[in-house]
Amino acid sequence: MTLRTRFAPSPTGYVHLGNIRTALFAWAFARHHGGEFLLRIEDTDQERSTQAAVDVVLEVMDWLGLNYDNPGDKLVYQMRRMPRYKEVLAQMLADGRAYHCYTQPEELDALREAQMARGEKPRYDGRWRPEAGKALPAPPPGIQPVIRFRNPSSGTVSWDDGVKGRVEIANAELDDLIIARPDGTPTYNFCVVVDDIDMQITHVIRGDDHVNNTPRQINIMRALGATPPVYAHTPTVLGPDGQKLSKRHGARSVLDYRDEGYLPEAMINMLARLGWSHGDEEIFSREQLVEWFDVPAISASASRFDPEKFAWINSEHIKRADPGRLVEDVHARLLALGVITAPLAADDIGRLTEAVMLYRPRVQTLVQLAEEVSLFWRHPNTASALRDQHLVPALAPALRDLCDRLASCEWQTANIAAEMKAVLAMHGLKMPQLAIPVRVAITGQTQTPSVDAVLWLTGRDQVLARLEAELKRISR
Ligand code: GLU
Repeated sequence: MTLRTRFAPSPTGYVHLGNIRTALFAWAFARHHGGEFLLRIEDTDQERSTQAAVDVVLEVMDWLGLNYDNPGDKLVYQMRRMPRYKEVLAQMLADGRAYHCYTQPEELDALREAQMARGEKPRYDGRWRPEAGKALPAPPPGIQPVIRFRNPSSGTVSWDDGVKGRVEIANAELDDLIIARPDGTPTYNFCVVVDDIDMQITHVIRGDDHVNNTPRQINIMRALGATPPVYAHTPTVLGPDGQKLSKRHGARSVLDYRDEGYLPEAMINMLARLGWSHGDEEIFSREQLVEWFDVPAISASASRFDPEKFAWINSEHIKRADPGRLVEDVHARLLALGVITAPLAADDIGRLTEAVMLYRPRVQTLVQLAEEVSLFWRHPNTASALRDQHLVPALAPALRDLCDRLASCEWQTANIAAEMKAVLAMHGLKMPQLAIPVRVAITGQTQTPSVDAVLWLTGRDQVLARLEAELKRISR
């Protein structure tokens, strides 16, 4: 039998970190075991489900590379399976695994109040449940019944949860669940069961907000003659403050992080570490995750999303990423920012590659990387206070000599360094006394990677233009 997991999002809004972590675990588990990972769209809440939200789910999965194995790439949409659900409902009604219930909402309210007044737990009392030798009332005219599942009335339902261990519930605790509404539409728990059976799901990995549904789903599944899958309920992802994820922190759309310059492999790495670990490994690739991932290592306690740690993880992946990919991304960002107005020619792509390699150890996101390297194409807007502080008239003779030497040397990093050293010697200066003002003149910053590399990347024309402009200003 093929091991098969699924991700079953309800397309009612954006996809947040908690949602996609569930998808990642199910995906990694299937990939680790050489099984299949299927995608099912749970769109029966027609008021809240939209195609736009489905598209966001698909975009997130595509960005993260969470590929799925639906036959023919066809997604399973619950709304398209209504005839199938109705067929199963009809079979269950026909052989007594389910029954019509005509109890009206007012009657249920009265029942609940009476039970609570007696100190009992409110529950449906089975008044329409057929039993041997029990006379049922005549169906009231003009009332559309709901369909209830005939839950076992005694014994227990239990499962060995992949995360929580053994869970056992007394059937007496479970109502006869409504599985179809008066208009005949099936309810959520019923659809999930029929889908999990039809899709031959062997392992359900989902958030533990569904743990109360599981005993009901297992009973329905058994009534349908199927063997329940293995369930693993993953603990909640909390925000940095220990509260439920909300829009304030991580509940932003996963795609916001892409736009902010997070790499998909960093997102996967960070998500995997929310509630799962492999020894002390903090930074790992998708391939390593697939190699290592398994359900027993999922932690039973809730985990916290830490934005600072995520930024660090991203910086580590930026250091390891294929340079060509980074360059392509940064190039697109420079165009979008208007730093460059047309795609760069091959020579300039070479220069961009050098700039990306120089700056990538210093940034946490690709947005920062694009900002840093943009100085090689756009003159920085340097605060005049910073220039006044560092580019002082006393420095003019040294800057003059530096300009003259840079104007005629061969444009190589090593030569630029040699010319700077020569100017230091001629004027009795120490490196920072020249290098910091030069950095400010060229980049608008006092700290940069090695100044000779920065000058080389800026290009001779730009370097001379920027230094000459400063010389003119301080000699006035
Ligand atoms: N549609 C449910 C959700 O988005 C998932 C149900 C399941 O995985 O069984 O929470």
